[in-house]
Amino acid sequence: MNAKHEHLKPDPLAQTHDVFNQARALEDYNAYDSDTALREAVRRHGAGWAEPALSAHGAKTGTAEIIEWGFLANEHKPQFFSHDRQGYRVDYVKYHESYHRLMALGLESGIHSAPWTDPKPGAHVARAAKSYLQAQVEAGHGCPLTMTFAAVPSISLKPSLAKEWLPKILNNAYDPRNVPHYEKEALTIGMGMTEKQGGSDVRANTTRAWAVGAEGPGEPYELVGHKWFTSAPMCDAFLVLAQTENGLSCFLVPRWRPDGSKNPIQVQRLKNKMGNVSNASSEIELRGALGWMVGEEGRGVPAIIEMVAMTRFDCMIGSAAGQRQAVAQAVNHAAGRAAFGKTLLDQPLMRNVLADLQLEVEGSLAIAMRMGEALDQSTLDPKNEHEKLLLRLGLPAGKYWICKRSPFHAYEAMECLGGNGVTEDFIMARLYREAPINAIWEGSGNVQALDMLRALAKTPAVLETWFAELGKTAGSDARLDKAVNALKHEFADMNDAEYRARDIVDRLSLTMQASQLVEAGNASVAEAFIASRLGEHGDRNYGTLPRGLDLETILARANPWESS
Ligand SMILES: Cc1cc2nc3c(=O)[nH]c(=O)nc-3n(C[C@H](O)[C@H](O)[C@H](O)COP(=O)(O)OP(=O)(O)OC[C@H]3O[C@@H](n4cnc5c(N)ncnc54)[C@H](O)[C@@H]3O)c2cc1C
Repeated sequence: MNAKHEHLKPDPLAQTHDVFNQARALEDYNAYDSDTALREAVRRHGAGWAEPALSAHGAKTGTAEIIEWGFLANEHKPQFFSHDRQGYRVDYVKYHESYHRLMALGLESGIHSAPWTDPKPGAHVARAAKSYLQAQVEAGHGCPLTMTFAAVPSISLKPSLAKEWLPKILNNAYDPRNVPHYEKEALTIGMGMTEKQGGSDVRANTTRAWAVGAEGPGEPYELVGHKWFTSAPMCDAFLVLAQTENGLSCFLVPRWRPDGSKNPIQVQRLKNKMGNVSNASSEIELRGALGWMVGEEGRGVPAIIEMVAMTRFDCMIGSAAGQRQAVAQAVNHAAGRAAFGKTLLDQPLMRNVLADLQLEVEGSLAIAMRMGEALDQSTLDPKNEHEKLLLRLGLPAGKYWICKRSPFHAYEAMECLGGNGVTEDFIMARLYREAPINAIWEGSGNVQALDMLRALAKTPAVLETWFAELGKTAGSDARLDKAVNALKHEFADMNDAEYRARDIVDRLSLTMQASQLVEAGNASVAEAFIASRLGEHGDRNYGTLPRGLDLETILARANPWESS
């Protein structure tokens, strides 16, 4: 280069490029105010009074600070210490500060307690909505929140235990100290059912319990055996199944004995899970661990089933929340990124994909919140048979369907972000790894489908109730009517019912979602849901919505920056 052109030589430290065409981060938004489907569901199902608190919670869960807690709680996995530095057995799990902050936020907001401490119309719905907002930030800490919430009906079966434990379980506070329950003001509860030889079939449990003195409900027993999957092992106590001479029974097993010694619940190791990383799940051995019998001897499953029912409800809420967050992220990205001359949000094929993903959320939320209302109504009026029976079928069907739809939904939403979606810097990768968990936890898919059949066999009225609920929208859409009638036909012949159980539960869920969406009253959403999911479409991917739908409305509901 001659001297004349010297000034054109590139500076080696020159700026290589400008960063542009990137979506803004989805943070510092109000996750409640911007969620039209959620706000409508809250009002529709009797929890309108909770809106100020939900809006305040949504403002918090949308902050960059709290979103960051979710990342940190997963980046810094829980660490297990079997012994302390001097060799004493401690069975201690250390969590990152961010996990504790999330726990404190959830417990101080009453996600574990509100419908029990202040039962009123809409209480379960309001609490579910709060949980839905919180779960969008981080799913792992939802496990102990859910278990603590869900343990209340089971522990209530034994009034003497309830009197001692419930005031502290229902306290809206978090005390993570590893000290005996009687030294604390706030407690969390876990559960131990699954053993190596069987999780679905808990009757195969081999853990044994021997009475310390007198036998029966409320009496102390010592448990010897193991549990293969006990999540949140730093909980203050666990509801555990163990065999007595009279069969499988349920026990409340504390971390510490009343004399201040450590109860011998020994953690063998933590599970190395692909998802749900912030939440420690452990393998434990019970070496004479003390526990009090909850419910009747030999009736352990009916005792713990109360807890299981609530955890299944929370699986519906948690998975629906994962879907909502995935769509919010996908739409946020598509709105802020252009390709081939238009923002992705304006590209017809991307609109089809995003609207279809939003319809999934609409359906999930519709059935989940209807079950929330059923919980409210059946708790407030135990004689309300319709709501009770609706719940009996709705929990397995809804849990099955929503959780099972989530992995593919998360994957499609991830793909909307292109390559960024698969990096751990975005929440999409975590949502994807989280997506299969709820489907397996608390009764895997087949188990839910079989539970639906069990309910039908034991209480045939559940089916009449289901169709009575569907009947509320009869005549409003010929395709829905046709799908409901075809479903009724399935029950005329119960041969091979087990073999067909998934098909039946799919259709129970889909028709209920469609019916709920019709009742909800947004014609664009209901029409698109029915047109895409109840037609003759057959197997389908997301993004295959038929022509002629009002995508504008659906996408506005999906957009976390647009509230209508
Ligand atoms: C993240 C996570 C946390 C967990 N935390 C806890 C916890 O805190 N406490 C706890 O007790 N457990 C916990 N579990 C365990 C979980 O509840 C069990 O894994 C689950 O119930 C399935 O039991 P399993 O693993 O023994 O599988 P199996 O019972 O062996 O089932 C394997 C498969 O067979 C299917 N199946 C079973 N029976 C039938 C049948 N009759 N017909 C057709 N198919 C059938 C199931 O649907 C499943 O797909 C946790 C699991 C996960 C993933």
